[in-house]
Amino acid sequence: MNHPEILLLRHRIELADSLAKHTQWASSIGFVPTMGALHPGHLALVERAALENKAVVVSIFVNPTQFNNAQDLALYPHTLDRDLALLSTLLHLGTPIWVYAPGAEDLYSDGVKAQSFDFQGLDSVFEGADRPGHFNGVGTVVSLLWKAVPAHRVYFGEKDYQQLCVVQALKRMEHRDLEIIPCPIVREPNGLAMSSRNERLTDSQRNRAAWIYQTLQEVADRGRAAAPNRLSPHGLRSLVTRAAQEAPDFQIAYFDIVTEGGMTPVDQWVTGEKYRALIAVVFHGVRLIDNIAL
Ligand code: AMP
Repeated sequence: MNHPEILLLRHRIELADSLAKHTQWASSIGFVPTMGALHPGHLALVERAALENKAVVVSIFVNPTQFNNAQDLALYPHTLDRDLALLSTLLHLGTPIWVYAPGAEDLYSDGVKAQSFDFQGLDSVFEGADRPGHFNGVGTVVSLLWKAVPAHRVYFGEKDYQQLCVVQALKRMEHRDLEIIPCPIVREPNGLAMSSRNERLTDSQRNRAAWIYQTLQEVADRGRAAAPNRLSPHGLRSLVTRAAQEAPDFQIAYFDIVTEGGMTPVDQWVTGEKYRALIAVVFHGVRLIDNIAL
């Protein structure tokens, strides 16, 4: 490989063989797990991985065990050719990119089922409460991917904040010698967090969905430590309840304030502690999540 290129591999064994042929990069592999339907939010992770490592592996796999809703899984877009074209726009950075896009039977050699983890409650609230079993599916696939990809750094978006916390717990539980790199949320110009699910909205619905981030910004403005007349966590919950009453096209699945890295809702501020506000809404039948640091 004289010039960096995209190598598409469908099987774990091929990936291992191909990586083994390029020992010059073996000491520094950045890994970005995705479910495909790539957008600039994913590309920001891949770009960072390309800048910080000698080689990058991107996995593209729509993981069935993390969907508790068959319709959601069936609706998930599969756009491999487009994904490869988007990834090739990053080759100018000079870092080769391996794309591992397996079938379920390749990754799940023991049958496509979720393992059960003890994430100490991190997985039972918010996304986990609304989507039972979701984080066992996430943990299972990430654990399998870590076995398939000999990565040194693994890149996850803060967009899926709870997932990031769960994956950090998984790393500790499995004693994995790798670094988890959290990456900031990439947004549309109007503030809407980029997501493959945004594809299900019309242009005018996407414009309207900017309400989610506007609301979070208001929460951050009124809840940050330096805010004049800072609202309490309870005050912030009421603020969002009132905002939602005026925006009946958004159904709030949850809104809450947690400490950074944890998933326990807080009732009062503690000096020096960092907080995050988490929200999920259903908007025109599409479930959208977002969060903001306070
Ligand atoms: P997904 O394909 O949705 O499983 O996402 C793959 C990775 O991209 C996850 O680590 C996500 O958190 C991350 N990601 C997705 N959307 C964004 C975004 N808008 N900004 C930053 N990271 C994102």
